[in-house]
Amino acid sequence: MSNRVLGIHHITAIAGNARRNHDFYTKVLGLRMVKKTVNFDDPGTYHFYFGDEVGTPGTILTFFPWEGISAGKVGTGMATEIGYSVPEGSFEFWTERFKQHHVNVVGTGERFGERYLSIEDPDGLKLNLVVSKSNDLRKPWETNEVKEAVATRGFHSITLTLKSIKATAAILTDIFDYQFTAKEGNRSRFVTDAIEQAAIIDLEEAPEQSGAVNAGGTIHHIAFRVKDEATLMQYREKILIKGLRITEKIDRNYFFSLYFREPGGVLFELATDDPGFSVDEPVSELGKGLKLPAQYEASRAEIEKVLPVFD
Ligand code: ZN
Repeated sequence: MSNRVLGIHHITAIAGNARRNHDFYTKVLGLRMVKKTVNFDDPGTYHFYFGDEVGTPGTILTFFPWEGISAGKVGTGMATEIGYSVPEGSFEFWTERFKQHHVNVVGTGERFGERYLSIEDPDGLKLNLVVSKSNDLRKPWETNEVKEAVATRGFHSITLTLKSIKATAAILTDIFDYQFTAKEGNRSRFVTDAIEQAAIIDLEEAPEQSGAVNAGGTIHHIAFRVKDEATLMQYREKILIKGLRITEKIDRNYFFSLYFREPGGVLFELATDDPGFSVDEPVSELGKGLKLPAQYEASRAEIEKVLPVFD
């Protein structure tokens, strides 16, 4: 693994009801809950992580479920669509499954020569299942109802909606080493060759759209992947040199992070591969118990009392 940005590490979004969020992602979509913890900045709120068996970077979608939160609004300055890679021939299965589970299917289409099936999660967050042109060999998590032949492989891409794409594109190309590859309508595609999958960022230019409102059913931030802390800190320097503000290194228990707001308004994070989700429970047990960071362990009883019961 190189000292480059290795595509998407994780995507974090905001949900309403915890049980509804958990059931949609684990049961309907067939992901594995790889970690059940709390928001480290607000320990009365859950933080859910969904992904493949071990929570491989590039498969991890995380949520803060806030009961009763108002619906957000997509618009500029936000990541607005999540692309999941699915196998060729799986749309029939998914269409039937979404119908059965009363999932809002937005429609199907084709972008950059790849077909997609577009849906909304129960909070209105847009997900596209995409049949990737590249051969996606990632091993998916499998459930009784969602078998390997149809299961999602992890992220295909993410879309950022922006008033103007110029400054954001420069971050992707000049700092993160992405290449502009194609344009379709108001959508420009940027791809990194540092990693095979979860390597695509689409920038959608929408000068007439109003600014996004970050609340229920919208994406809070996207995290780019680096292999280790040394690489993380090299990127911190590169971002500072560009004149942007960036946080100090933050220990998120399962990875180390830096956050900065890119000039188009989207909150970016850089996150490391190590130590990973098996740092506090074995792979076979991932997501089963409520895991708390050390500073909250003494308050476990009170925290458990205020968290909604959902399973
Ligand atoms: Zn994050």
